[in-house]
Amino acid sequence: MPDTLSAFAEAKLAALDAQSLLRRLTPTRRDDGLWLQRGGRRLLSFSCNDYLNLSHHPAVKAAAVAAIAEYGAGAGASRLVTGDHPLLSRLEDRLAALKGADAACLFGSGYLANTGVIPTLVGPGDVVFVDALAHACIWAGAKLSGALVVAFAHNDVDDLAARMALSRPGARHALVATDGVFSMDGDLAPIQALSDLCQAHDAWLLTDDAHGVGVLGDGAGSGRTAPGAAIHLQMGTLSKALGSYGAYVCAAAPVVDLLKSRARTVVYSTALPPASAAAALAALDVIAADPDLCRRPVAKARAFTASLGLPQAQSPIVPILLGEADRALAAARVLEDQGFLAVAIRPPTVPAGTARLRLAFTAGHADQDIAALADAVRPFLVA
Ligand SMILES: *Cc1c(COP(=O)(O)O)cnc(C)c1O
Repeated sequence: MPDTLSAFAEAKLAALDAQSLLRRLTPTRRDDGLWLQRGGRRLLSFSCNDYLNLSHHPAVKAAAVAAIAEYGAGAGASRLVTGDHPLLSRLEDRLAALKGADAACLFGSGYLANTGVIPTLVGPGDVVFVDALAHACIWAGAKLSGALVVAFAHNDVDDLAARMALSRPGARHALVATDGVFSMDGDLAPIQALSDLCQAHDAWLLTDDAHGVGVLGDGAGSGRTAPGAAIHLQMGTLSKALGSYGAYVCAAAPVVDLLKSRARTVVYSTALPPASAAAALAALDVIAADPDLCRRPVAKARAFTASLGLPQAQSPIVPILLGEADRALAAARVLEDQGFLAVAIRPPTVPAGTARLRLAFTAGHADQDIAALADAVRPFLVA
């Protein structure tokens, strides 16, 4: 028999390569929260989501090591069986307090959170409105739910209102899902206006604050920037500014109880390892003790956008749009030759024709390095 599977894969790979869309892993050694080694070079990274450089913070690492010594390397089972080690509820209490919510439910990752939460709360007969640029795992969760999925134009509350007028009346429940901070564009969702619309139409609001917690609202996240908003489901991750791994959803107590009982990615997946929970708890201690640290990534991003005359950064993320994938790859190579890592982001992670460098600024980036990066990027800005 011919090996049709390998032939299928080879044809797919060749087609991707022809469009500059083939992706390859690059072995990378991160030396600390800023510098890494790859391809025989030492590079200053502007591509890590480690916004507070906490993945290498001594107290965060020590907490992870201590948790392994005390509780072991793995949780041993799903939470509902024997995996509910003491660090999990401690971390949930801390996250709920940070977000001003009743309760929190941990997940193994952000992807598992959104693909677990959305199908638990909506299904056939319901409707999910999703921002067009929302993260892939929100889309995955929405599709998995079996609810009607309706995209609305990015950050366009009027477009959402028009789509709600059409699709909300026939649905039992409605959910609006958006990134709080958009992962590839760095802009913020209009949370207050979304909340007002949700209130008017009895729709539930889910914000994904993967890139907001630790860096906006003095560390509390994007929700804090809209204090009057009612966000029913405040999702976020432990894997970016908190320097660890895992994710959470903060919500009212019965909602959290339902997720712990019914979300498939909780019930049928091993609990978060002790080290990840302990690292996140230690990171939350660092954040609570140093609000100035939390303000630094956005300040650094703003220094960069000001020096290039770009629109003011709203988050630590600054996109440099370059159009076609090959242009973004070429720009990334030029920057790498100058000692900067700025990974090219291509479709399908971003829409076709919007390949880009996605720059992520962190608390520890030195001002002179940001100025040097701006000089290196300037030639690529389209007039
Ligand atoms: C990174 C990210 C996720 C996924 O989180 P993981 O913990 O890495 O799986 C979800 N949503 C957004 C907006 C993200 O940027």
